[in-house]
Amino acid sequence: MRTPPQTVLVTGASRGLGLGFVAHYLRQGAVVLAAARDPHVPTLDQMSQRFPGRVIPTELDVTSERSIRDLGHFLAERETMVDLLINNAGISVDEELGQWTAHTFAETFHVNAIGPAVVTQVLLPYMRADSLIVMITSGMGSLELAINAEGGLDAYAMSRAALNMLTRRLAVKLAPRQISVIGVNPGWVRTDMGGAQAPLSVEQAI
Ligand code: NDP
Repeated sequence: MRTPPQTVLVTGASRGLGLGFVAHYLRQGAVVLAAARDPHVPTLDQMSQRFPGRVIPTELDVTSERSIRDLGHFLAERETMVDLLINNAGISVDEELGQWTAHTFAETFHVNAIGPAVVTQVLLPYMRADSLIVMITSGMGSLELAINAEGGLDAYAMSRAALNMLTRRLAVKLAPRQISVIGVNPGWVRTDMGGAQAPLSVEQAI
């Protein structure tokens, strides 16, 4: 059984599941690097007030190589090692066949599959043996199930299938360093992305 992580880095920490992960690991006693496009959002400010000194809001846009590199420099300067990386940031755009745009496909792939690859690569020097990398994926990425294939979340589903392959390939590459890499489907959750009809609360999903 794993010991609880001491230092956790969550991407997309401003709201939804990302903010839920931040709260969860703070309650477990960890120091949490809350990486968000805007690290000064009120949600993270409130978290910092509730858990003084243990929330480190950090700027990160997973589509910006400069921003990802800066995060690496930030960890180097603070001499911080990460026990648990949660690649959580994601977007989904509902676009029916006939209205597809290359821009939506490219942007969705950038945030949902390329971002986690580049973020993970930059953070690897700051991870030791026994660290864990979690990719937040989706049932929509299952080739076997092709869930709701008649619907409009095609770019999203494709990007999650790509993320699943990244997860498997990284797991093989990092096994010799004893770093585990897993994909987790949170279920259908009530967030801005999941919508109000979703059956799971953020707390249940976490
Ligand atoms: P939300 O839409 O509520 O939150 C998405 C988060 O991702 C926000 O913090 C957002 O930041 C961040 N984000 C978006 N683009 C970027 C970017 N370029 N760089 C950094 N951060 C970014 O989504 P959920 O909380 O519901 O989803 C979290 C993860 O769970 C996603 O990966 C999603 O695909 C996955 N998931 C969700 C399900 C659900 O039912 N909700 C089901 C299955 C999977 P900002 O505030 O700046 O926009």
